[in-house]
Amino acid sequence: MVCECLVELEHVFIDKTFTYKINKEQLPLLKVGMRVVVPFGKQTLEGFVLKIYENKDVSLENKLKEIISIVDTYPILNEELLTLGKYISKTTLCSLMTSYQAMLPKALKAKKKVNMTPKYDTYICINYGMYNNDIKFNASQEKILELLKENKKVKKEVLNKISVSSVNTLLKKNILLEEKEENYRYNLINEEKIKFNLNEEQQKVYKEIFNSINTNETFLLYGVTGSGKTNVYMKVIEDVIKNNKTAILLVPEISLTPQIIKRFTSYFSNIAVLHSGLSDGEKYDEWRKINEGKVKIVIGARSAIFAPLKNIGVIIIDEEHSQTYKQENNPRYNAIDIANFLQHLNYLNSQYHNCPLILGSATPSLESFARAKKNVYKLLELKNRYNNNTMPKVEIIDMNKEFKKASGYFSNTLIDQIKETLERKEQVILFLNRRGYSSFLTCSSCGYVEKCPNCDISLTYHKSSNMLRCHYCGYATKRKKLCPKCQEEFKDYGIGTEKVEEELKSLIKDAKIIRMDVDTTTTKNAHAKIINSFLEEKYNILVGTQMIAKGLDFPNVTLVGVLNADIGLNFPDFRSSETTFSLLNQVLGRSGRGNKEGKVLIQTFNPEHYAITYTKNHDYLGFYNEEMKIRKILKYPPYYYICSIKIISKDYNLASKSSYDVVNYLKQNIKNEIILGPSVCNVFKLNNNYRFQIIIKYKDINNILEYLTNIEHHYFNKKDIKVEIDFNPL
Ligand code: ADP
Ligand code: ZN
Repeated sequence: MVCECLVELEHVFIDKTFTYKINKEQLPLLKVGMRVVVPFGKQTLEGFVLKIYENKDVSLENKLKEIISIVDTYPILNEELLTLGKYISKTTLCSLMTSYQAMLPKALKAKKKVNMTPKYDTYICINYGMYNNDIKFNASQEKILELLKENKKVKKEVLNKISVSSVNTLLKKNILLEEKEENYRYNLINEEKIKFNLNEEQQKVYKEIFNSINTNETFLLYGVTGSGKTNVYMKVIEDVIKNNKTAILLVPEISLTPQIIKRFTSYFSNIAVLHSGLSDGEKYDEWRKINEGKVKIVIGARSAIFAPLKNIGVIIIDEEHSQTYKQENNPRYNAIDIANFLQHLNYLNSQYHNCPLILGSATPSLESFARAKKNVYKLLELKNRYNNNTMPKVEIIDMNKEFKKASGYFSNTLIDQIKETLERKEQVILFLNRRGYSSFLTCSSCGYVEKCPNCDISLTYHKSSNMLRCHYCGYATKRKKLCPKCQEEFKDYGIGTEKVEEELKSLIKDAKIIRMDVDTTTTKNAHAKIINSFLEEKYNILVGTQMIAKGLDFPNVTLVGVLNADIGLNFPDFRSSETTFSLLNQVLGRSGRGNKEGKVLIQTFNPEHYAITYTKNHDYLGFYNEEMKIRKILKYPPYYYICSIKIISKDYNLASKSSYDVVNYLKQNIKNEIILGPSVCNVFKLNNNYRFQIIIKYKDINNILEYLTNIEHHYFNKKDIKVEIDFNPL
């Protein structure tokens, strides 16, 4: 017998497998989807077994090299993941190895770098076959047996504290038995279980899903913030589990907060959680719990779509508009596409999954809403907040008028409202999508701006560390006192969350402020601590970046202030209105979630911008229609698909020349689609690399895929030039 093995080879883009001989001892143990160690030239490599078969030509087989050893005791890539890997490799133009590696936790990747063994605890119990009352025991033996009668099984280390020798004697006599049980590194707190009923509107939506629970339907659940989408998800998952199936719930990484986990653990008991806050060991353990069928529900961020669940009964993607579902580096997949593929995957024994997909959002992506309008997705709506709370009242503050009167970046209206809210003993959230202290420093005399030496970006000042930082490449340097050119003082411009915190302290004396952004959440559990202390009202103002926009539920927050709604709008990207609109709607959704009415103040220099005016009126449909008109004229998604090709090199001339080579090749071969560029990227120089970009606007991927594949292969692993192809980039 022989097998086909996929090994990781650097510097070559090949999905070629190599054939190895399986010896007699290995044969009963080896299965497709396991890792093996094989000889390769002078090296030994790890690889995945993709196929096992009988080789008819024995003389040929004898020439083959043998597998050195088998790494796994069970396949880590099941049939489904094997098929999925091929799909990802084909649709995102990455190697098969890259896509398989992306689906596995670090500890299970081929050529693993971490050696992680499962941990076990030893438990002791009484062997009632050997035990009887007539046997004489000494005092400590009696004590041990008493404890075991009460508790059935007890950890050996606990009994050893009574007497090591007694435990060993009883074990030798077979009166006690030892059993090993896996000790997972991560366990969710077992919350007390609660019950709830859906309200009428939720019930209607739930019924629709329930009626299609054994189909491949995709639902778009468009529900305003606070409408209780999560409660609908929970009821659907409950049914799926009753049917002996399993469920995946994806949420954006930043909303994978203790709050949402708690809501699920107080309703279900068989959950695994996958997110970036876990250590490699913890992720590995969660993965094995799933693979061994010990849990039925997986909650996680993007990559949890690869959870090795069997018999998936529903996939739910919450906040489906969120950009975090798209992976920005290789493989550049989108979790929604993967979910779609899984739904339709022709499973073993040609049995369909028949698994519905639910996409939930208060501000669906234009793509998804357009699909729902064309009945590709089934549209479900939750128009009201649970308990019929009203949506918060939104007021726009025109900073063009207010700026002169304002105290720094705070309009008088905002300051007054914060004070009033705090007087009523209610809480405030202030949102600013920029961390650090000020946006940039400039010399008050010559106008010199401190820039990153590696990137085309001005450095952000962080006051607490007195450092200037590049938010793109991580470069950091101490702040210089004086301008290196003319020895004058620096002035700082723009505002970040750090400065908001500082200014507020001086403006409002009752302010007890806590800040949540990348800089305050570097330590483990920092998120949870901030959220809990704000929930317990140890603080009355929460200042934060988009980290606070999603999924949080603080009932006593009645005022949300947006300090500068224009940051996102000024971004040179065709999606900037859409992302601003959905971000503002998420943020305002944090206000008035309890039983008190909520208010939102939005400071902006563009009060007439439609992303802002439709936000004020809670008018998603109005925004959708307006934005669709623009997309149509400019030939952007969802009317056209987009593919971006970035040509990147430290050598400016090489990058420039190659970008023309690529565009010429494309223009010669692709006739029916729109090819634009090359032009320079938004951030032209990043990490000392010069970056050019070509954009293809296309209707049919089959018109372009072949040529892009050729380009990918041509430039794959070239030393001094990189080409990055990204379908539907964000
Ligand atoms: P969304 O995700 O749509 O923004 P949530 O699921 O967070 O809304 O629900 C908002 C609030 O209403 C939460 O505090 C939630 O517990 C509560 N809620 C929603 N539906 C129900 C229900 N059927 N029973 C009890 N509480 C509910
Ligand atoms: Zn930089």
